[in-house]
Amino acid sequence: MSILFADKSWPELKEAIEKNTLIILPVGQTEEHGMHLPVKTDAIIAEEVTKRVAEKIKKEIPVLVMPTIWQGYSMKKVAEWPGTIRLKPETFMEMVFDILSSLIEMGFKKIILISAHGNHTGMLRIVVRKIADEYKIFTALTYPSVMAKEEFAKISKAGPGGSTHGGEYETSLMLYLRPELVNMKKVTSEDKLVYRSQFYPNKVFWSTWGIQKTKTGIYGDPTVATKETGKKIMEAILKNYTEFIKEFYYRGDN
Ligand SMILES: [Zn+2]
Repeated sequence: MSILFADKSWPELKEAIEKNTLIILPVGQTEEHGMHLPVKTDAIIAEEVTKRVAEKIKKEIPVLVMPTIWQGYSMKKVAEWPGTIRLKPETFMEMVFDILSSLIEMGFKKIILISAHGNHTGMLRIVVRKIADEYKIFTALTYPSVMAKEEFAKISKAGPGGSTHGGEYETSLMLYLRPELVNMKKVTSEDKLVYRSQFYPNKVFWSTWGIQKTKTGIYGDPTVATKETGKKIMEAILKNYTEFIKEFYYRGDN
């Protein structure tokens, strides 16, 4: 049976609402990811993670996966390379708010966002707050990269500055998920983020794009990325999401 929201008829969705089905909304973006990764990298990661997480928990928790958001906000700087689709922050926030409010108004109460694009963080937090104010429904905003952060830090070869944008983390995941879309002949370590500060990145928010120039549109070192690392990242993501989703579904207020 399909776990995709968009495959269902309205009577099937009515039944899903009655079962208090969990909705997961994958949020990606379309933007350049250097010379070796497709521009849809963030959307692919969000979608693949969401589908795998949903498949893993569906026996225990009723779940449906929304169509992936592939368009959103990227800094203008990233549009220096072809492939970046830029919505205004306001447009993106209104779009996500309207998608969530549509789901809530039709009766869904448990909603998780799985976001794979760093630029969206602040905007999505505001949307989640606005939804809570408006509907008293507390949605959860999550990031695969944060879910797997500790496990990835233990196996990362690139180290600090090696996995910001198009680096070891994303390239490894893509080698595992969609190897046919990765061109390892084009990888380079020349745009590894080498800037070091006692403040960045833990104490201040300061965009990588304003810290150090990039020649190829990435910040990181994809040369050390491997399919094996991608597999381990995905295992960590699945393990941590499974635990969190149980907590969210059974213990949250709504
Ligand atoms: Zn990305």
